[in-house]
Amino acid sequence: MSTAEAGLTEVDVAIVGAGLAGTTLATVLGKAGRKVALIDPHRVHHPEFRAEKLGMKQLQQFEKLGLDATVLPLVTTIDEMHIFRLGQLFARESNREFGFSYGALINGLRDALPPQVPLTVGKVAEIITGPDKQRLVLADGAVIDARLVVVATGYSEAVRRAIGVDRIEESKAFSLSIGFDLAISPRDCAYHSVTYYGKRPGDRIAYITIFPIGNKMRSNMFVYRQVAEPWTRAFREEPQKMLCELMPEISAQCGSFEVAGPVEVRQINLTTTQGHRRDGVVFVGDAFLTTCPTPGVGIERVMTDVDRLHSVHIPRWLETPGMAADKISAFYDDPVKIAADENGMRSSLYSKAITTGTGLEWRIRRLRNNTARQLMMVGRKIRHFGQRRANAVAGEAS
Ligand SMILES: Cc1cc2nc3c(=O)[nH]c(=O)nc-3n(C[C@H](O)[C@H](O)[C@H](O)COP(=O)(O)OP(=O)(O)OC[C@H]3O[C@@H](n4cnc5c(N)ncnc54)[C@H](O)[C@@H]3O)c2cc1C
Repeated sequence: MSTAEAGLTEVDVAIVGAGLAGTTLATVLGKAGRKVALIDPHRVHHPEFRAEKLGMKQLQQFEKLGLDATVLPLVTTIDEMHIFRLGQLFARESNREFGFSYGALINGLRDALPPQVPLTVGKVAEIITGPDKQRLVLADGAVIDARLVVVATGYSEAVRRAIGVDRIEESKAFSLSIGFDLAISPRDCAYHSVTYYGKRPGDRIAYITIFPIGNKMRSNMFVYRQVAEPWTRAFREEPQKMLCELMPEISAQCGSFEVAGPVEVRQINLTTTQGHRRDGVVFVGDAFLTTCPTPGVGIERVMTDVDRLHSVHIPRWLETPGMAADKISAFYDDPVKIAADENGMRSSLYSKAITTGTGLEWRIRRLRNNTARQLMMVGRKIRHFGQRRANAVAGEAS
């Protein structure tokens, strides 16, 4: 087929999936002068409960790619975090974080795509990969020829299956992520944001975090439970009652935890990929590996993939003819990528074990950590009391 034929586009890189990985990679490659096609079944990313908070480290990753000016207007800055452990105020941190709605973030990134990288709305009906040239046939008959295909379809399986790549369930139903809005407004909430760690291992709660997104207070809760168990059903039915029981110390400051809107519950599976070292195609972000949101490293992992592909691998691959599996393997063998993926898996497993582990090792670690925290809180109270006494004495003397 020649380029003169109707519906044929030729590009350097065809990216399937315009989520976080796909849209950011398309933007930076497009800005670097690459010819890119970006394909997604939906023009507008629908509202979806996914990552809703970024830290400074992740913002710096966007900054490195020149995307911070696009991202910053789409997020709400969080300047102060009250951290509760063992039911008591443990720390007041002023580390900057950013709250956002995932759909709004992705749509904002899509709106900022360079004009030479349009979003093609369509479904991939056929995909042919090889050591030199790749071909995508869309459901409407349009054909895209590319030197490289990037699969960035997140949890979705259709394109992965069409290529013949398997997802390995490392741990099915590993945890639950629960998201909901609170009725209280950020102005009326006593805290700018709160992170409240589970008190008892038996509660199977890693933590609950409450933070502003625009004019709403949003909550994300990470628990090691199953969708069908009675606790989860009870939480869906009576979130306010259960939140007041879990965090009575801060209930009044958070509008008695009145919940506005639906309670969204997502099951999290830890997965890896098998059979991905193939000619002409590379898997990125959640299309390659999924970790648990509890340690908050998903975005970091996705943005590491994007950065390494954009700044190291794709320029090298396009420099020379061919796109065979041995070339592509350099990405999967990249120590920076491997470290980010391993950190994601390791921190997912650690967070669960330190919260719920019943073996002697984990009980000792929890005891050690909690004793150190108790001592810090007692020490702080003594210092505070001593300071007040000193001030009172100074007041009497003057
Ligand atoms: C409930 C939840 C909470 C999370 N919380 C956090 C957190 O607090 N911190 C953190 O760092 N990470 C968190 N994560 C992880 C983070 O959200 C993901 O790692 C990240 O969004 C993955 O981005 P991605 O680009 O790989 O996939 P996505 O953003 O999901 O993009 C996939 C894209 O592919 C498209 N697509 C699907 N099928 C096809 C197809 N057949 N053809 C073409 N396109 C297709 C979709 O429409 C979508 O646009 C959370 C995840 C979940 C599920």
